[in-house]
Amino acid sequence: MATFSDLGLSEPVLRALSDLGYDEPTPVQEQAIPPLMEGRDVIGQAQTGTGKTAAFALPIIERLKPERVPQALVLAPTRELAMQVAEAIYKYGKGRAARVAPVYGGQPIARQLRALEQGVQIVVGTPGRIMDHMRRGTLALDHISMVVLDEADEMLDMGFAEDIEYILQQTPETRQTALFSATMPDGVSGLANRYTKSPVKISIVSEQLTAPRTRQVYYEVLPRDKLDALCRVLDVETPSTGIIFVRTRAEADSLAESLQGRGYLADGIHGELSQAMRDRVMKRFREGQSELLVATDVARAAWISPICRM
Ligand code: AMP
Repeated sequence: MATFSDLGLSEPVLRALSDLGYDEPTPVQEQAIPPLMEGRDVIGQAQTGTGKTAAFALPIIERLKPERVPQALVLAPTRELAMQVAEAIYKYGKGRAARVAPVYGGQPIARQLRALEQGVQIVVGTPGRIMDHMRRGTLALDHISMVVLDEADEMLDMGFAEDIEYILQQTPETRQTALFSATMPDGVSGLANRYTKSPVKISIVSEQLTAPRTRQVYYEVLPRDKLDALCRVLDVETPSTGIIFVRTRAEADSLAESLQGRGYLADGIHGELSQAMRDRVMKRFREGQSELLVATDVARAAWISPICRM
């Protein structure tokens, strides 16, 4: 099995990884880092949890030039993912003083302008906000040598296809391109074909996720017994925190309410809540003021995954 130093990473980066407790590369890292370090394009089918962020972040950091101009651009579907990726890059790149800024909708643009003015090398953002900065002339793409599309399937689902293509077209032809996606529907493979050159293709099957120690259990119960059964499980397992996924928004609200009525600290979270409400719910959960999140739609796990990693 390869080690991180076999992958050609520099001392400062190896130190950062060892400080983070990363002992060995995950399969997607082992397969994606060498071609990306060589400057090749990569198309990776890999889900969250496989270590895909480091798979593209480490080569970005290693290939940076000292100039403080945007050299790498990472497009992500949500502000939560953008923040999380920026934070990961910051941590991995500390020893190399890599300068990274997240840009996303919802944050006052002035703060992002200040960060961009101070000279960043890596910009991680949602397509809409990246377009805003391009229009304002506050983000120059002429020195971009690497573009990463992270969670491409999610970005297309969210209607960002045109924005992504526009952004890619404004970057230099000579750029290196990496695309990561959990699934490869036609829209994603079409995008990959149009914007990558002789890509190395990588596919990580789900058995290789970095959470092999997660125990999975299911119980067969009648619909009318579900709430009682859930409460029994919660009482027996006594998780300090937990996330409960349900199918609909109405179910999220009503289950959260039923659990509250039974004395659990539960909050519902779903797409009908405003961003401010969502932030409040996540903050309560992070700070331990609530112990259970009742959430809809696993696709929206992008809001939740950052806290699962903490
Ligand atoms: P990702 O799939 O990039 O969202 O990463 C999933 C989680 O695995 C994150 O919490 C990372 O910090 C962690 N991780 C990534 N690579 C490694 C590694 N080589 N060893 C241990 N943990 C890792």
